[in-house]
Amino acid sequence: MDGDDEAGFEVDPDSFERFSQKDDIYSRSFWDPTVHSAKSDTFYETYRKPLKHYRDVDGFTQNDYSVRNASWYVSDIFAERFEGDDRREGFLDAFTVFRAEASEKRAIPSSAEMTVEIKRVAKAFGADLVGVTGFDERWVYTHKYSAKTKSAKPVDLPEGLNNVIVIATSMDHDLIQTVPSALSGTATGLGYARDTVTVLSLGQYIRNLGYRAVESLNDTALAVPYAIQAGLGEYGRHGILITKEFGPRIRLGKIFTDLPLDHDAPRTFGVKKFCDQCQRCSNACPAKAIPFGEPSTRVHNRSNLVGVRKWSVDAEKCFGFWVGQNSDCSICIRVCPYNKDFSKWWNRVGRWLAGTWLRTLMLKLDVSAGFGTRKSARWWWAGGSGSAD
Ligand code: SF4
Ligand code: SF4
Repeated sequence: MDGDDEAGFEVDPDSFERFSQKDDIYSRSFWDPTVHSAKSDTFYETYRKPLKHYRDVDGFTQNDYSVRNASWYVSDIFAERFEGDDRREGFLDAFTVFRAEASEKRAIPSSAEMTVEIKRVAKAFGADLVGVTGFDERWVYTHKYSAKTKSAKPVDLPEGLNNVIVIATSMDHDLIQTVPSALSGTATGLGYARDTVTVLSLGQYIRNLGYRAVESLNDTALAVPYAIQAGLGEYGRHGILITKEFGPRIRLGKIFTDLPLDHDAPRTFGVKKFCDQCQRCSNACPAKAIPFGEPSTRVHNRSNLVGVRKWSVDAEKCFGFWVGQNSDCSICIRVCPYNKDFSKWWNRVGRWLAGTWLRTLMLKLDVSAGFGTRKSARWWWAGGSGSAD
């Protein structure tokens, strides 16, 4: 398809199958006996209820769980408010529109000017990165997952929303340094909370201009391919988007709209070649869920996308580790050499090196400097990197 080369996609039109959200590992953890267990039920419960017993282990104390669960509170409220109507908004369903679009459309100066404006507003509403791409049905789920019936249900995306705005919000660098820990899950919860505020505000802005908008986080469509097409970053070996500004330390949201906008082009800065050599996430993954070697069309189980040549993570192994440690894991994000604070010039130099033939040297320097090493939760509670400055 046009633009796939630029985006680095290798999609085989003969074998490609669109993905059903019923096959997402989180959906499967409710209906599929190969993934669901009493322990996985407990895993989810502990995000909302106090544990029966807290371990006296750094990062897994009552205080650590308390801050993690508080960070999820905002996105939980949105996810749970219409559960009775079989809607988990932001995760399984797009957000409900409370205020319809203005009856009169604002005269748009030009799609180019509108694009500049929408990006300015998105950043004012909390986005760290914003890109725009066209609607691509390949990434839209064939079905959503109904938590109520534990089965597939139709995707109800309206016709004619030909543009997709993709936003990324960065996750806290210090918190991610403490992975694995319950505390580090705070970075994820906060990312969802910030994304929720940003996409809802931006969507309402578009409706106030008289255009349609559907706000979405993990629901409705795969976010990573849209983000790549919108120029936000490249695909990493660990299956996560790697952005130039924050590496893989981001969470994504998207808005489907008919607002006239110009599209961004995919951006590359050497990630594929670097991942070919690096493999640090594969080595560090405790579940051995991240592949070594070249991208392939191999699928581990039904949670993988079929017909795309890429690095595919074994989500069953990954989720099994999460359940075992009773908190989500982002070790692959923590150890990734692109997980840096790029406001510091020496990290920008390292990123530049990673995109050149000196990438092997950069990788050695990165390892010897100890980047990606776990910090204790106690370090974070004592002030984290702020206390060292
Ligand atoms: S989140 Fe943890 S278990 Fe899952 S792939 Fe990354 S490192 Fe492995
Ligand atoms: S850790 Fe290395 S191999 Fe894995 S995604 Fe990051 S750069 Fe690529």
